[in-house]
Amino acid sequence: MGVNLGWLEKPLFQQDGSMKFQQRLVCIAASSLIVVVYLIFLVNVHLVNLQDSEHVKVSLRESPLHLTHYDWQEPDQQKCRVLDNLESFSNLTSLYLRDKARYDTLSNGQYELPTKSFDPDDIPEKLNVILIPHSHNDAGWLRTLEEYYIYTTKKILNNMVIKLKQYPNMTFVWAESVFLSMWWNELEDDTKVHVRNLVKRGQLEIVLGGWVMPDEASTHYVSVIDQLMEGHLWLHENLHVKPHNSWSIDPFGHSGTIPYILKKSGIDNMVIQRIHQATKGALASVKSLEYYWHQPWDMTGKNDILCHVMPYMLYSFQYTCGPDPFVCFQFDFCHSDNPEKSPMPKGK
Ligand SMILES: [Zn+2]
Repeated sequence: MGVNLGWLEKPLFQQDGSMKFQQRLVCIAASSLIVVVYLIFLVNVHLVNLQDSEHVKVSLRESPLHLTHYDWQEPDQQKCRVLDNLESFSNLTSLYLRDKARYDTLSNGQYELPTKSFDPDDIPEKLNVILIPHSHNDAGWLRTLEEYYIYTTKKILNNMVIKLKQYPNMTFVWAESVFLSMWWNELEDDTKVHVRNLVKRGQLEIVLGGWVMPDEASTHYVSVIDQLMEGHLWLHENLHVKPHNSWSIDPFGHSGTIPYILKKSGIDNMVIQRIHQATKGALASVKSLEYYWHQPWDMTGKNDILCHVMPYMLYSFQYTCGPDPFVCFQFDFCHSDNPEKSPMPKGK
């Protein structure tokens, strides 16, 4: 069966030199398209000039659409030049992080560590110890919500009141409102007043404050907003407080939309933990584990939110202890009564 190429043989112009009707239409459409594209370009330049804001310029400059892509496999010379230019970042998007992470593995199959290994010859004169008493209480994982509350959470919250009373310069953070609500219903009125005072003094800080610390990978955003409203309403009614910092240390990965939702719910700063080790490595290599999480579509930057990424593997003592585990494991009070059960490496 032959292919009909008869249309190729037809003349572009008619006998009298004029164009056919369809050809005229094509020419007019093409010219209109060029004019429209030119107008869009002019209007955008005009808008940017109108806003004349340094923030807009920074957003434009650091938008993933305007960044030259850096290939980590390039020769060392280029690597040094680019890393020099990118000493640290202030505004990042999740798209950018994906492009920057190097997912190569070492010969042992591990991803490159996000931080330098500890150098025993480089011991500082003063030891700067940062201890962060915090909570992480799943509202459902290996046990039910009620079991978690009865067996562990209730005791933590009761002890929190005792310890914060005993040590007025001690602070504590709590994230999940569902457990606060269960606990609150069992408290005496004078303890409730005391807890409100702890919040007022800043000794007890409610962070994130959603009903739970939500999963960010598979949850629909409507559910995320719903549980956030539930938690914040409860806090408003009972503790008279509104969270301004988010604490999200166990979701298996983080969504680029959550920072936007958090910002809209009145939160200014956020802490995250579980991201790919290669991504942490990419951020650590340019001293940017703390950055403004930027929405790529937002040219004003008003939805940017300050994000702190925890530098090590996890939030538990064993995996968040660094840079020298032999020093920081000494502050593992949980195992101080029973060193045998401590995850501290033996022989030290
Ligand atoms: Zn968890």
